[in-house]
Amino acid sequence: MRDHFEVRNGDAAGRIGRLSVPRAGVTVETPALMPVVNPNIRTISPSRIESAFGAEILITNSYIVHSTDDLRERALETGLHDLLGFDGAIVTDSGSFQLAEYGDIDVTTREILEFQREIGADVGTPVDVPTPPDVSRERAERELATTERALSDAESVDTGEMLVNAPVQGSTYPDLRETAGRSAYATDLDVFPVGAVVPLMNSYRYAEMIDVVAGSKRGLGRDAPVHLFGAGHPMMFALAVAAGCDLFDSAAYAIYARDDRYLTVRGTEHLEDLEYLPCSCAVCTKHSPDDLRERPDEERERRLAEHNLHVSFAEIRRVKQAIRSGNLLELVESRARSHPAMLDGYRALLDHAEQLEREDPASKGSFFYLSGESAQRPEVHRHHERVTRLDPDGTVLLTEGGIPSGDTYDAAWRVVPPFGPFPRALSETYPLTGEVPARTDRHAQEAAASGVARVVEANPETSFVLAHDDWPASALSRVPNRVETELVHDGR
Ligand SMILES: [Zn+2]
Repeated sequence: MRDHFEVRNGDAAGRIGRLSVPRAGVTVETPALMPVVNPNIRTISPSRIESAFGAEILITNSYIVHSTDDLRERALETGLHDLLGFDGAIVTDSGSFQLAEYGDIDVTTREILEFQREIGADVGTPVDVPTPPDVSRERAERELATTERALSDAESVDTGEMLVNAPVQGSTYPDLRETAGRSAYATDLDVFPVGAVVPLMNSYRYAEMIDVVAGSKRGLGRDAPVHLFGAGHPMMFALAVAAGCDLFDSAAYAIYARDDRYLTVRGTEHLEDLEYLPCSCAVCTKHSPDDLRERPDEERERRLAEHNLHVSFAEIRRVKQAIRSGNLLELVESRARSHPAMLDGYRALLDHAEQLEREDPASKGSFFYLSGESAQRPEVHRHHERVTRLDPDGTVLLTEGGIPSGDTYDAAWRVVPPFGPFPRALSETYPLTGEVPARTDRHAQEAAASGVARVVEANPETSFVLAHDDWPASALSRVPNRVETELVHDGR
């Protein structure tokens, strides 16, 4: 049990959590966004990130501080909080990124963790190896062994009250990520970054990103706070939270602003292409695109960075509210409509519906069927599980219509796509209270047919008649042969 992280409300595998950071004396509500602050380049000052954006936590790179004489001396003298001018929690990265980029760095895990503790970091990071996607399995395994040694070295360092990250690597091999998650979770370290996913996100490989997260989550316990390292685009926050990520870091807000890129929850726009600013933040209500384009470079970059941060924090708040309202998957579904690669990410998430189902609360606000993907949601899987536990006798009518007059059945159950059959008495229970379109589709009918099959298989002694509203062959082929089928009639 990790007592510094408390999971509260949940939706799918997403959750509202409270991460206690003892050294900073703060409790950070998750999902949380950590803006990345480069100690050398302050596009927006950390104190402004705190006061104007409400950031409770940020991340900076201790390797840059360590290898820059002036910064190192000031950090050792006055501490990192003073150096940056930030009172919240400060996470420090170790230089692993530099290791991956340049092949070599001149600090060990012990040295960098001791340095992080000395300068007053609140969450430190060992020197792991961020193995990129698509490498050979042999390399992924070899580098993972090095990362695991770094975690074991980190356990032996006296880090005091500082929390310590235990990165989860394993490239694009979900089983290695699971192994890595399990061994990271077995350490006494505190926060679990899923590493080296930036190349996946940069090339819009959201489906593989989800498989990597799902693999890592299988190895980690439910009380492990998970940081999706390098994930800073607001477009994918809802998706990643639904997969079980709690912390995000954004360098994107500043890097994108530097080349005039404007973040939205539906993707990235280039300032030169914009006729309007589709946002209600302070920057976008005070300026027109023309106005911004005419500003001096430094001011334009700062204003774009402010907008980018606003839109990112707003999306985190929207995600949190969706968890509280129990409609996170509806939000994921609408974000999935912004880009085909996001739709792939959502479909990949639904491939893990059974894994999500284990964390998803049994009852939520309401279920909205919004697309064929909704038919694969964990709530549908759970309903199928639940309904197989009932044992109706005799001859049972399963019907999409009403109960026929002169009814000779022992029971008549309703059938509602995508859920399938259920006794009428359950009609007012979640998710059967969900809203489904009057114009149903093949995916919903196929899922309902799978529900029929589950009930029929669970009750071999019972006879079933299915009255369906003209289901296609792809749905009817899922219904066991021993079920008598007929069409529901008009005026039902
Ligand atoms: Zn804006």
